[in-house]
Amino acid sequence: MRNKTLFEKIIDREVPAKIIYEDNLCIAIEDINPQAPVHVLLIPKKPIEKFSDFNQSDSDLLTHLFFKVNEVASICNISDNFRININNGAEAGQEVFHLHIHILGGRKFNWPPG
Ligand code: AMP
Repeated sequence: MRNKTLFEKIIDREVPAKIIYEDNLCIAIEDINPQAPVHVLLIPKKPIEKFSDFNQSDSDLLTHLFFKVNEVASICNISDNFRININNGAEAGQEVFHLHIHILGGRKFNWPPG
């Protein structure tokens, strides 16, 4: 049997986290190592390994997640200015192989990213 990802353990309340939002398809938690005053991870409950694994059958989930980005930003009072980031693959900085969208706000961001 496949081992649960860290985020599945959080979803199943086996690992604690500060939950910002949850519904039947996704959960949003505070990042344990925040890179901005607001740093939330929006995570689909379906354990898709990475963004490039999305396929056509996930299109409703993808739409749902993107609407929820705005809802979570609103909950966190950063609707006017925020950055979303998805690290896809180890070389792109992905450490947890359960898809998640970083939602960051509360400070000015530079471009290009590092
Ligand atoms: P990534 O590098 O894109 O895979 O992002 C993984 C993120 O998960 C990092 O920003 C970590 O700080 C965060 N993280 C790791 N463990 C936890 C945890 N137990 N609770 C909340 N966030 C975590």
